[in-house]
Amino acid sequence: MNTIRQLTPFLWVVPSRFYYNSGVIISQNKAAIIDAGMADDEVAAIREFIQEKPAKLEALVLTHSHPDHILGPRHFPDISLYAHSDFAQEATRVQEQLVSTFNNWAQQENFNLVVPFTLPIPSYSLGNDSNFRIGEIVFQVYHFPGHAPDMIALYHPESRLLWASDMLSDAVIPIVQHSVIEYEKSLSRVAEMDIAIQIPGHGDPSTDAVEVKKRLDEDRTYLAELQQRVKLAVDAGKSLEETEAECESMNFKEREWNLEGHKRNISWVWNEFNNPRSAMTNLQ
Ligand SMILES: [Zn+2]
Repeated sequence: MNTIRQLTPFLWVVPSRFYYNSGVIISQNKAAIIDAGMADDEVAAIREFIQEKPAKLEALVLTHSHPDHILGPRHFPDISLYAHSDFAQEATRVQEQLVSTFNNWAQQENFNLVVPFTLPIPSYSLGNDSNFRIGEIVFQVYHFPGHAPDMIALYHPESRLLWASDMLSDAVIPIVQHSVIEYEKSLSRVAEMDIAIQIPGHGDPSTDAVEVKKRLDEDRTYLAELQQRVKLAVDAGKSLEETEAECESMNFKEREWNLEGHKRNISWVWNEFNNPRSAMTNLQ
């Protein structure tokens, strides 16, 4: 278990050894968890941390329906679950994939299967124009599709804090698993926000507004170039292999580590431009 890091008087970030972040919000002895963890020992450590504060766990927020973000709720069957209104539909559609991913991880990592994976069913819907409140802390909710159709982010205006979900990572390039066009729109909305503290779903949090702006600029530059190169290739009738060759010289951070993600992005965006409708609805 890595160290739990306090970023503000009400928010702690819990980095996982599986390279994603959970969050704990505590206010007036009430607690909420964002993306409640993957391995049993990590979930137990979060639970213990909250108990020792002491605070009472009242809510779980799921940022989107990807497998690494939704394994925790099965450990908290009686706690209110919040997610985007499209979450249930999305999770149901990719249910088979979620279950098989979970089973593979469980086998590889020796997860304790005392509590089997079940698809989380949100009790409350969040979306644009809604708020998420715990104690006296109120977050504005933003729907940011592009990485996933149902992805939300939480923004706390008083501390200019954005829980960015799977965007604005210092280490991972934007991963397009829904729509590059929607992803770019989401980032242009982020560009209008005033952000001093930012936590990505994967990677290090930042408390430096200049660094946050740098992450945003890098992500937008990467996606704009990806979109432009793939669109030109598709308009010229090029195959996926030819399109990959067109995108090979693109620059992006942590090249070796992100190469696989870059290739998947090319394939995803190539499909999106060749079949605009099905790309929006077919997660692979
Ligand atoms: Zn994701």
